[in-house]
Amino acid sequence: MQQVTPRVYTDTTQRGCNPSFVVTSDGVVVIDTPQLPTRAVAMRKAAEAHGPIRYVINTEHHVDHIFGNYYFRGAGPVIAHAEVANNFMLATQHPSPYVYAREALPTDDPDGEAIFPDEETYFRDPNRPAITFTQDLTLRLGGHTFELLFTPGHTVGQIAVHVPEERAVFTGDTIFCRCQTWLYVSNIDQWLAALDRIGTLDVDHVIPGHGPVTTKAYVDVQRAFLLEWVAAVAAGVAQGWTKEECIARISFAERFPVDIGQEYMMGHIQRENVSALYDKLVAGVRP
Ligand SMILES: [Zn+2]
Repeated sequence: MQQVTPRVYTDTTQRGCNPSFVVTSDGVVVIDTPQLPTRAVAMRKAAEAHGPIRYVINTEHHVDHIFGNYYFRGAGPVIAHAEVANNFMLATQHPSPYVYAREALPTDDPDGEAIFPDEETYFRDPNRPAITFTQDLTLRLGGHTFELLFTPGHTVGQIAVHVPEERAVFTGDTIFCRCQTWLYVSNIDQWLAALDRIGTLDVDHVIPGHGPVTTKAYVDVQRAFLLEWVAAVAAGVAQGWTKEECIARISFAERFPVDIGQEYMMGHIQRENVSALYDKLVAGVRP
């Protein structure tokens, strides 16, 4: 794993989110779990080499951040915003998170097939959040502070984890660094406020939900990209384009690649982003 500071580790090289952990003098705090089974098992081992896992934090409910919880059963309790618990691996989500996790195996983790649970086994104990909160939450462990900041926008239960002693913040998918932004279940107004909040933190290291580790300067890039998306679809609506015309004519596929392993989702992301923004703008709902 990449060592961001002497006590902060992350992995930006695998399909799924950037799973991370922080080593304190009183054990380890995991922030998001690897989606791929063998990567989850390996990260648990790597984390436990530094001490017992005291907490597992999920920054959002999307499958790429929570599926790996299954492989952390019996480690410290999972902590997440209440909306992460409410939306945890719901089969009604599209694509179905369980199916989406399984679909990644042949291409990205063939060895993971052997330890991938069938649906019944998985849902018996997917290692859901055991501790939830609705605003912010502060944990203190071994001389480290973990400020779990409620930063909704990308998802309803989105949080960032600020560790002031490491001058680091784990933003979850409030920042997609140099890769495509998925915004079709998002509230852009809230997301912009979340970026403003992250921008106020006194940090050197920004560990995004996806893409390489960056700095606070990237907050402005992410903000600009969200505004560009809204402006492009609003301009289409203003010109009287139908949704299909907007979908056909608006694309930011040239801007960034899709994060690792999901390149085939490029068309889906462009289409769903346009479609969601179009529906809100036409309905007069702030995006
Ligand atoms: Zn993600």
